[in-house]
Amino acid sequence: MPWEVRYGDGVELPQIGWWLDSRRAKHRCFVSHAHGDHIGPHREIVATRATASLMRLRVSGKRQETILDYGQAWPAEFGCEFKLHPAGHIFGSAMLEAATEHGTLLYTGDFKLRPSLAAEPCVVPRADVLIMETTFGLPKYVFPPQEQIDRDIVAFCRTALDEKITPVLYGYSLGKTQELLQIVGRAGLPVMLHEHGYRMTKRYAELGMKLPPFSLLNTGNYAGHVIIAPPMTGNTEPLTWINPKRTAVATGWALNGSAKYQYGCDAVFPLSDHADFPDLLAFVDRVQPKVVYTLHGFAKEFAATLRARGIEAWAIGQQNQLDLSLD
Ligand SMILES: [Zn+2]
Repeated sequence: MPWEVRYGDGVELPQIGWWLDSRRAKHRCFVSHAHGDHIGPHREIVATRATASLMRLRVSGKRQETILDYGQAWPAEFGCEFKLHPAGHIFGSAMLEAATEHGTLLYTGDFKLRPSLAAEPCVVPRADVLIMETTFGLPKYVFPPQEQIDRDIVAFCRTALDEKITPVLYGYSLGKTQELLQIVGRAGLPVMLHEHGYRMTKRYAELGMKLPPFSLLNTGNYAGHVIIAPPMTGNTEPLTWINPKRTAVATGWALNGSAKYQYGCDAVFPLSDHADFPDLLAFVDRVQPKVVYTLHGFAKEFAATLRARGIEAWAIGQQNQLDLSLD
């Protein structure tokens, strides 16, 4: 019998009674990482130590936590064995490998193949069934080389500081803030963090990640610093106190021509914690699955791309447009 994969408030594996990354409360749920759209107030979770710890900052209440190291085998019920592998997305992010008599299933959560300065390097096992995120699942999403992105971000900050203007980099408090801190801090620039990012970054440090020096944003003493803050905080205190400032957002969507205007920033940098299109394809090549289920972003389009390459693939929870040729 093949693996049964359902989609509702997250992915469900009914044969073993586990949910994956549900946002609604579930009896048992694997949590791939602590981003808001992957966590919920579950009764029992399986996660890495870092994910469980970061999740405690975001979801109140108590829950039963089974903490697994990467690569550690754990017997779930119904003859199923779980193993977690680094997903390279944010600190602690994990892919779930579930092995039963139905074969092996790999669920990626969010992942990134290229090495991040603020996450464990991605490890890619083989699996029969692959459930993967496809946020950037269109051929136009090809990120520039990492060194170029890093160089551009540092140059943007240096130029502003030379002109006595405060550079403000917008990136999510969990994941992007710490990656930006690594890039800018390693270049020797002093960094202040918005309180949301500061809280998460302190937890990263407590969990053992080596980071350059950082301090909490202080509106009386910010001159000469790079400020990192979550997106959409620009029009709120304390950011409104920072003047003059030059702003940039770090997101994979920077590849869309309109991103600069959409985000209302002076610059955009395509720093992403997801795989780009070539890395999505490379990932599938390495897993060598018999069937692929796609999720998030351009799921339908990426499933069609895989089918055109002779791989059985379906977007979960969506109508799949089959390209039926009549000749
Ligand atoms: Zn995420």
